[in-house]
Parts: sequence; C-alpha cells; structure tokens
Amino acid sequence: MAKAALIVVAAGRGTRFGGEPKQYREAAGRPVLSHLLARAAAIPQIGPIIVVTHPDDNAQYRDAVMRSGASPEQIFNAPGGFTRQQSVRNGLEFLAGAGLPDQTIVLVHDAARPLLNEVVVLRALLAASSSGAAIPVLPLADTVATLDASGALTSNPDRSALRIVQTPQAFRFGPVLAAHREMAAKDRHDFTDDASLCAAAGLRVTSFEGDSALFKITLESDLARAEAELQPRSRLITRTGFGYDVHAFTEGDHVTLGGVAIPHERALLGHSDADPLLHALTDALLGTIGDGDIGQHFPPSDPRWRGAPSRIFLADARARVEAKGGRVIHVDGTIVCEVPKIGPHRAAIADVIGEVLGLSADAIGVKATTNEKLGFAGRKEGIAAMAIATVAFPG
Ligand code: MG
Repeated sequence: MAKAALIVVAAGRGTRFGGEPKQYREAAGRPVLSHLLARAAAIPQIGPIIVVTHPDDNAQYRDAVMRSGASPEQIFNAPGGFTRQQSVRNGLEFLAGAGLPDQTIVLVHDAARPLLNEVVVLRALLAASSSGAAIPVLPLADTVATLDASGALTSNPDRSALRIVQTPQAFRFGPVLAAHREMAAKDRHDFTDDASLCAAAGLRVTSFEGDSALFKITLESDLARAEAELQPRSRLITRTGFGYDVHAFTEGDHVTLGGVAIPHERALLGHSDADPLLHALTDALLGTIGDGDIGQHFPPSDPRWRGAPSRIFLADARARVEAKGGRVIHVDGTIVCEVPKIGPHRAAIADVIGEVLGLSADAIGVKATTNEKLGFAGRKEGIAAMAIATVAFPG
C-alpha cells in the first residue's frame, strides 16, 4: 500500500481556549502538536505530513517540530486560511503542487487530537481505499435531546443512527481536492469538516470505527486528560517462576512453615529448618532469573546451612533477582498437608514472607490444602509446598 499523506490542521486560534492555540499548549513535557507529530512520524503507513499553521505561530510551530524529534524531511508547512475549510484546502493545494498522485489517500487530522495511533490509521486507509472517503465514528453513549430556544425538551432523537465524528478523515486525493475546489468556487466556506464538504459535493462517505483516545482537546479538563495519556510509560516486563518442595516427617515437636514454628507432634526432616514453603518460594524466585535452584546455591553437604532458618535462602534469592534489575511484585504458595492446621498461622506466615521480600499483605498468597488422605501427604508422611513468584523487570 502506498503511503498516505497527512494534513494536520493546526491553524486554529483557540477562541474556546482562553485565546491560546491549544495545539501549542504544553502537555507531558512538550507541545500538543509535538506529541502528534512524533506519533504520526512513527506510523509506517504515513508519508509526507503537511502542517497547516497560522503565520502568527511560526516560532511556536518551529519549536513544536523540533521537539517532536520527527525528521524535518517528512514535515512540510502550509499557510492556514480564515476557516478550517480553507486551511485544509491550502494543505491539499500544497500536495497538488508537489504532484501527489490522485489515487493517494490523504488523511486530514485535527492538531488538537494528539493521540493518533496506527490502528486507527490502518482502519482509515482500509476504508478509504475501498470507498474513496471515510470517517472515524463513535456511537453515542448518552441519550440525546433537542431543545427549544427556552431550553425545554422538544424531542429525543433515536441515537442508534447518530454518531460522533472524529479525525483522521480519509479521502482519495483527487476527489477530495476536486470537492474542495468545487465548494470554494460555489462560495461555500461553511463546512466544519471535510466529510460534510465531500458529501455536499456528491461523494459517498463511509465510516469506520474511531477511538476514544482521539478525543479533541477543547477544554482545560481535556488538556489534563491528554497530559495523563501522553506521559511516557515506563515499560515493564514480568516473569513468573515456579517452585516445589517436600520434606518428610521425623521425630520432633514442631514444624517450620513459612518461617513460623508451629507446634506439632512431629518435625520435618531436612538439613536446614526444612521449611518446604520457603524452599518452594526460593526456587520460584530463582526460576524468574534462570539461576538454578536452592540446592545449587545452598548444598545440603555444606555444614553452614545445618539448621539454618530458610528465610536466609529466600532473602538470598531476592538479592539475586534484584541484582538482575528485577523487583518481586507477588508471590503465591500452597502448603499440602493433613496436619498441622495452617489456618491459624496464615497471617504470621504472610508477615514473614512480606518482611523478607518487601511485599504488602495483598501481594502474598498463603494457602493450604489437605491431600484428601491420598499419597504421601495424605498418609501424613510429610509436607509439600508449591509456589509461584512474579517479578517485574525494566522492558
Ligand atoms: Mg527443601
């Protein structure tokens, strides 16, 4: 598909916006127009970008182009007219002067809709390639009404046939240029968008799905919304690791589960404190960075770990994750045993895990289940635990 040309209508004077052209207002660190140009230049289907501006704004325009980071070779300037219609016409005549082929798709877009995106551009190109003229529309969420001069309700039109019209509007270049020239020759200068102009010139205009992100900045509150949505988002990727552990019962008077000593008629056999939940969690963390397993870092043959509290292993795994730039954001574990009862100790276990991993209670799952008397856990020969951990890394 040949690249489309984009006309950005940026000559508005901001009469509804305290007299300052909204396309040059700062949002999230640079002018609204800068954001739009940066986004448009990054969309592969867009070729030349013609920005139609008011001569009073030359300095601000040049600043916006520079701060967009877009290649100056892709961006052209055309003078604005007295009306939006005339401004678009000037953009079209610029393209005519540059010899743009009639079949090329031209997108006409408002500078005050900075959140242009590739998905909408692709929809626009597909629709206009097939019909020759197409507009992005959104359904109306609210009931609509007509009022008389006193503000009293006169009717509620059926909203199912009504749509909100956005930009970019997409047209084949030859027909839209001809329609603009025809309407100007007929001294009609009152069209508020190019679709209504094309329709008046007898062209069939189809529609495609718009995007609520393409809202137009009209009020101060719109600028605040744009600001929030234009903030650069820190990209994160997440990885999930899994761990499993089991320890057999032996002689003793307590078991250690999740770092909590729980009185019991038996103990768990192991080199350290034999805590299957913290061991499973440790392996889950190591799994997120592909760094082996607990047995590799803390071999049972090493006398240093005899009777050691397993929170040491979990803290070590956290440090290994953080050394790789990761941040543990969530863990979830299940203890499988018939006895002892875990419920009364659940909060204490979550406290230990939260302390070692720096997590709040709502980011820690501690669960327990019996094994329905089946298998080794069901025969009370030991206790098993499974765990997953989720770690966020910079993308
Ligand atoms: Mg173990």
